[in-house]
Amino acid sequence: MHRFLIPLVLLLMSFTPARAEPLTIVASFSIIADMAEKIGGPRVTVASLIPRATDPHVFQPSPNDARLLQSAQIIFINGLGLEGSVERLIASTGQSKKQVVLSKKITPLHLVENGQDHGEDPHAWHDVRNAKLYSEAIRDALILADPQGREDYNQRAQDYLQALDALDAEIRRDLASIPPERRVIVTNHDAFHYFARAYQITMLAPQGVSTETEPSARDIARVIKQIRAQKIPAVFLENVADPRLMAQISRETGAKIGNPLFTDSLSVENGPAPTYIDMMRANLASFTKALRP
Ligand SMILES: [Zn+2]
Repeated sequence: MHRFLIPLVLLLMSFTPARAEPLTIVASFSIIADMAEKIGGPRVTVASLIPRATDPHVFQPSPNDARLLQSAQIIFINGLGLEGSVERLIASTGQSKKQVVLSKKITPLHLVENGQDHGEDPHAWHDVRNAKLYSEAIRDALILADPQGREDYNQRAQDYLQALDALDAEIRRDLASIPPERRVIVTNHDAFHYFARAYQITMLAPQGVSTETEPSARDIARVIKQIRAQKIPAVFLENVADPRLMAQISRETGAKIGNPLFTDSLSVENGPAPTYIDMMRANLASFTKALRP
């Protein structure tokens, strides 16, 4: 694919617009696009490169995406290997200077299996405290790019951080109603390790941290054995993953299938998880509904 042949005219068109124009933000995927919208407010326009309800692990950019990056003044990405194809596109189109990696201040988890380190786990946003660090990074980048909006960005960020504190408290309170031995999330891929660490819940997934590789028969058998041994009441589907695997595990163990979880993407605008906060609430409701006795 030829992402190097961006016409000079596009480069010239991407020069700083008039001050009255909103700041043009491109986010790699829908969850951080939502955060940027909440903190930027009317001073920004935000586009998400990876659309809603799309798996970021296997996303393939198009030539239109290269043009979108050219038009951006700031590019927000998650980092930690989540959006490899987007990072390669940013580098190949010469846009690295605009890139802000939102996970920089978090403490990354590593997935270690059989003593082998499989690298950093990118799904940091499932711990609301990390979402607060993302929000602060967004606020700081917006102020740097548009100092006249400082007061506005500070105020909006403060309101959003307060809403995130309330969300964090709500998750802790609701999960406390599930007995500890039933606090287990069985789902396709390892998207909930940060959630598990933050909120004292166990995570069980046959597929690993990326959806790029298929789970092995051995991985599936391991999960089935554990569900039977622990009498885990439910397994969950994900909005970005193939439902057949969990259907198979459900059939073989008798665990029921809970409502679909949102892991790596928001739902469509009029769906059940149009914003980050809605997404976390929808997942919380699915957990409590399926796991409470
Ligand atoms: Zn994922």
